Amino acid sequence: MPEKVVIIGSGPAGWTAAIYAARANLEPLVFEGAAIEENRLAGTLPLGQLALTTEVENYPGFPAGDLSGFLTSSLEEEHHYLADMHEKKGVSGPELMHLMRKQATNFGARVITDDIVEVDFEAEPFQLKALGGQETEAHTVIIATGASANYLGMESEERFKNNGVSACAVCDGALPRFRNQPLIVVGGGDSAVEEADYLSKFGSTVHLVHRRDELRASKIMQQRAFDNPKIDIVWSHVPDEVLGNDADGVTGVRLRSTKDDSTREIDATGFFLAIGHTPNTKFLAGKLDINEKGYLCWTNPPRTNTSALGVFAAGDVSDDYYRQAVTAAGTGCAAALDAERYLAAKGL
Ligand code: NAP
Repeated sequence: MPEKVVIIGSGPAGWTAAIYAARANLEPLVFEGAAIEENRLAGTLPLGQLALTTEVENYPGFPAGDLSGFLTSSLEEEHHYLADMHEKKGVSGPELMHLMRKQATNFGARVITDDIVEVDFEAEPFQLKALGGQETEAHTVIIATGASANYLGMESEERFKNNGVSACAVCDGALPRFRNQPLIVVGGGDSAVEEADYLSKFGSTVHLVHRRDELRASKIMQQRAFDNPKIDIVWSHVPDEVLGNDADGVTGVRLRSTKDDSTREIDATGFFLAIGHTPNTKFLAGKLDINEKGYLCWTNPPRTNTSALGVFAAGDVSDDYYRQAVTAAGTGCAAALDAERYLAAKGL
């Protein structure tokens, strides 16, 4: 029997779609992603980008404060991240994702920890193939595969990946090699400031390298950077080369001024990228309409329909503009309702 609804992805969009589809008795099947090293390096492990962040301050319903009683009663012990947090400021990204996952499975959503790597949306029902070989048929599919962190693409950056170069401060920041050492974060958005702030708990100084002389980050995050004595903002520079050797990994970076092309070197044991994201749509190339930046296109906004009838898109994979947890959850809800109405219209 084909599945009524298959959801690909496990961030806020995927779990919200699963909660709504399960409550509508559509028995959704969620492919939450494969827990493999390749996905760890690419930032596409199950639970998505929120699983790579610290405190979440702007998700409605989770104010700053001590939520430990609620969280410990709602989550399995291995998902209590409270002890890891330096000050209890509210819910953490991983906790929020485990709560959403639990809410979906409580309503009967089934979960497979694997990636979908092949799709056929011309077949009826749709055919999906997972990395582990499992083949699944589905009447509707909701794509909520999110986006993953960008790298600059320098050869030296590639050479020192896992040896001082990282695109996830929260995953790697606590490693011994970064303790009490100067560190570099590249970028000027909210992620860059958040990562610099987080890394300042471990490093001696965090040089926040930005290509312009004004941050893109929201005002509140900018203030956080300006107020943190351990963050040094290096304006109007871009990395030219990551410096290091095989034994020590990263030892510094050569920066180039975007104003006059002059170069300078800074010592650092860590080089962290926070320069935006690319949507996870590679496996959909040629199967659905994708815009010039790689995002899935909605054919009839605000409906979540894609170019294949019965296939819907939600969350960051189809949003290069808002990219918030709550907007992803909102479009996840919309996609589940769209799928439900599509199935009802077809009498399925
Ligand atoms: P972003 O807002 O797109 O910022 C990317 C930053 O990287 C920009 O400052 C950009 O510089 C810089 N950059 C891009 N390509 C570069 C390159 N090749 N070389 C050097 N610098 C480069 O991405 P984000 O910070 O990941 O944020 C994404 C979304 O998530 C945003 O909507 C943000 O508000 C949200 N977010 C919110 C929070 C929070 O509220 N706490 C935390 C994290 C993320 P330019 O400024 O010059 O373009």
